[in-house]
Amino acid sequence: MQADIDMLRRQRSDLEDQELEVMEARETLDSELEKIESDAARLGGEIERVRGLISVAEAEIDAELAAEDAAWSGYAASIPESLLADYQRRRAQNKGAGAARLVGTTCGACHLSIPSTEAEQVRRAAGASVAYCDNCGAILVP
Ligand SMILES: [Zn+2]
Repeated sequence: MQADIDMLRRQRSDLEDQELEVMEARETLDSELEKIESDAARLGGEIERVRGLISVAEAEIDAELAAEDAAWSGYAASIPESLLADYQRRRAQNKGAGAARLVGTTCGACHLSIPSTEAEQVRRAAGASVAYCDNCGAILVP
């Protein structure tokens, strides 16, 4: 009988020790959880702040695009329809450069030079005929 009581006391003592260990572990985890929740709240605020900045930037970009579209519509109205279609087709093929300024003998789109006699012909024919870059196909604007 006394042996049973001693064994139960030892078990009780072991269980109390285990309970203390679990409580200590829980305190550590509670502290970590508190820090994680604090970090999450801070990061949530940061995410909202950055989203706000992105929204402002998107609104500015949308306004710039609208202004560019309006300006483009104004220019496009003064360009003959066949030349405009030619430009748009070349722009799609060239991934952006449908027309380029001829600077000296250099194409402003691909930055390669054309022969100086050809460049001079392009300048003389300005307004009368359309010239193209032999390399990239962009419409050359003298
Ligand atoms: Zn070119």
